[in-house]
Amino acid sequence: LRQKLEKAESMQLIGELAAGIAHEIKNPIASLQGFLKLLQPTVKKEQAHYIEIMNEELKSLEQFSTELLELGKQKNILKRHIHPQSMLDMAISLMRGQAREKNVRLKTKLEAADIMTYGDEKQLKQVFINLIKNAIEATPEGENVSIYSTFDQNNFSVFINDEGEGMSEHTIKNLGQPFYTTKTAGSGLGLMVVFNIVKTHGGTIKITSDQGIGTQISLTFPIE
Ligand code: ADP
Ligand code: MG
Repeated sequence: LRQKLEKAESMQLIGELAAGIAHEIKNPIASLQGFLKLLQPTVKKEQAHYIEIMNEELKSLEQFSTELLELGKQKNILKRHIHPQSMLDMAISLMRGQAREKNVRLKTKLEAADIMTYGDEKQLKQVFINLIKNAIEATPEGENVSIYSTFDQNNFSVFINDEGEGMSEHTIKNLGQPFYTTKTAGSGLGLMVVFNIVKTHGGTIKITSDQGIGTQISLTFPIE
C-alpha cells in the first residue's frame, strides 16, 4: 500500500488536469439545467419523464465534475489544529440519509476522543465520507456498516467494516487508480482522493476484503 501512496504523488498532475476539465464542464451543465427548468412546464405530460431523466443525468455529471475539482484542490490544503472525532461525527451524520434510503444500518461505537490532529477539516471529513459511502454502496439491504474509533497517546484510529460484497484480487490491486470503478455510475475517484489525503496528513490506511463477506478498513492519524 505504501507503493500506492507514493504513486498518489504523481497523481498531482492528473489532479490539476482533472480540475481544469471539471471547471470547463461545470458552466455548460449549469446552463443545461437552467434551460431544462424553463422547458419543464411546457412539455406534454408523457414527456415529463424525459425531463426527469435528463435532470438525473445532469445531476450525476455535476457530481462527477465536483469530484474532479476536488482532485485538483489537493495541494491547497489548509492545515490547522483540528478535532478529528468531530469530522468523523459529521461525516456519519451526512451519510445517514443514504444509509436509510438503502436500509443499511450504520452502527457506531466512537470512543469520546477529545484529541487534536494537525490537518484540514474539509479533507479529513471527505476521507470519512468517501469510505462510508463505499461501504454503504457495497452493503446489501438489511445488513450493517460498523464504524469504530479509538485513540491512544499517538494515534487516532477509525475502523469501517461492512458486510458487503467484498473485492476481487483484481479490484484490490487497482484501488486508488484514477477512474478505476466497478460501478455503473461510479467515478473511480473516491479512493484516490482518500489515499492522497491520508498521505498528506501523515496517516495510514489498511484495506482488507473477503469476497462475499465484507471489507475492513482501518485508518490511523497521528495526534498532535
Ligand atoms: P467508486 O466508488 O466511484 O467506484 P472508489 O475509488 O470509491 O470509486 O472505489 C473504487 C472501487 O473499489 C469501487 O468501484 C469498488 O469496486 C471498490 N470498493 C471500494 N470500497 C469498497 C467496499 N467497501 N466494498 C467493496 N468494494 C469496494
Ligand atoms: Mg466511491
